[in-house]
Amino acid sequence: MTETPLKLFNSLTRKLEEFQPVHPGEARVYSCGPTVYNYPHIGNMRAYVFADVLGRTLSWKGYDLTHIINITDVGHLTDDADAGEDKMEKMAAEKAQSIWDIARHYTEAYWADVKALNIREPAKWSVATDYIDEMLEFAKGIADKHCYELDSGLYFDVSTVADYGRLARAVTEEGEGRIDTVEGKRNAADFAIWRKTPAGEKRQMEWDSPWGKGAPGWHLECSVMGQKLLGFPFDIHTGGIDHREIHHPNEIAQNQAFCGCGGLDEATHSGAKIWMHNNFLVERSGKMSKSAGEFLRLQLLIDKGYHPLAYRMMCLQAHYRSELEFSWEGLGAALVRLKRIVMAVETLKGRHAELVSASMPNSEPWVRAGGWTLKQVQGDEFAILSGLLSSFDEAVSDDLNTSIVLTVLEQVLSKKKVDPARKLEAVSVIDSVLGLDLLGLTRTDLRIRPKSAQITEEEIKAGLLRRKEARAAKDFATSDAIRESLAMKGVEVMDGDPLGWEWKL
Ligand SMILES: [Zn+2]
Repeated sequence: MTETPLKLFNSLTRKLEEFQPVHPGEARVYSCGPTVYNYPHIGNMRAYVFADVLGRTLSWKGYDLTHIINITDVGHLTDDADAGEDKMEKMAAEKAQSIWDIARHYTEAYWADVKALNIREPAKWSVATDYIDEMLEFAKGIADKHCYELDSGLYFDVSTVADYGRLARAVTEEGEGRIDTVEGKRNAADFAIWRKTPAGEKRQMEWDSPWGKGAPGWHLECSVMGQKLLGFPFDIHTGGIDHREIHHPNEIAQNQAFCGCGGLDEATHSGAKIWMHNNFLVERSGKMSKSAGEFLRLQLLIDKGYHPLAYRMMCLQAHYRSELEFSWEGLGAALVRLKRIVMAVETLKGRHAELVSASMPNSEPWVRAGGWTLKQVQGDEFAILSGLLSSFDEAVSDDLNTSIVLTVLEQVLSKKKVDPARKLEAVSVIDSVLGLDLLGLTRTDLRIRPKSAQITEEEIKAGLLRRKEARAAKDFATSDAIRESLAMKGVEVMDGDPLGWEWKL
């Protein structure tokens, strides 16, 4: 197969750039993680599906990947631009619990979603409160030249670095229009890197610092953990597009200050060579938020009978830089597409098992722990599928074009006269980037009972069996009655369903 160079869209230069690792053979990626004060919205999870596909692609290309995702358990205010309260303190007060309990609960909820979406674990989950000393060191290092102190904290003067806000289109105009609630700031876009605890107050989370008791700013923690764990410059920094306006420009400004340079050479001074952002998940009523109506978290999808990987499929069908519109119909369509693929894979497994002789145990050669790399599919045995594997590599190398990758996968499955084991291998290769668990999932796994369902699976099966017997005896009145009574309980009987499902709830 032919190999295509990996091109990724860099938000900083607004160009597609060929990936050239800082350290040969390695890829170091930092992704902004969740603020663990509430359950993650599925729109937030899109960012981690995207970062996961990026990581899997880098592994496919043969790079030794180090991926860091942080957990923000301090410092993120209700407004990204220094206004409002600390999200964690606020939720802890509302729930009358300790911040540490809140953080643990929602971190675990986030990890459950990560697992359900088959997102690979990063090399490290870096927790912000574990890096307070490092944040203080970082802040001390840049304080003299780049910061000034106000009663409320230590502020970063954005005019001390070149080209502030270059990452965000028109951020200056927005910055000027931003509601500025902190008196004494030199520039509207200046931001706190250390927030002092107001006199007479006590925060649950506070630490001593040269600027008084307080807590670090949200932007500071990502700069510090990226620098500590990956070293400046590292290869790729990812996040949701909402970070492109404030959080990431502020991280970049801090990184420029830390590097002690005047300019903004994106390759060396911004902290990362490539900055990548995934677009929003939207619904027709506008941008979804936690305050708008039904809270769309992964568990809600599962409660309604959708397998979580149907949501991953939905994300993969769109390009990560495009808005993705959420609808229940769209999710249903993604589930059906996933089911079709899983059924085709099950059929291949069955055919393979038939071909394997008794003396040769079915060793499932297509499964490779840790996924596949490009180098592993160059042999002659892949020749018959090399055209399609080249198309797969070309699509994923084109700024992670997963919707094309899905089409190529379907072409592999429909290709005639190919040994099932070879096809299964090709599916496994492609899935090492898509991450849909196509070799492990079964049709049965995909059938999830909606929480509201009032009938057990045994009752459904018993009803269907009686109906079958009635039909065999040409007793259509009984057969129809059974169908009706199942329908009353929310079970739709599906005769001749192309996916081979006899019923659905
Ligand atoms: Zn961040």
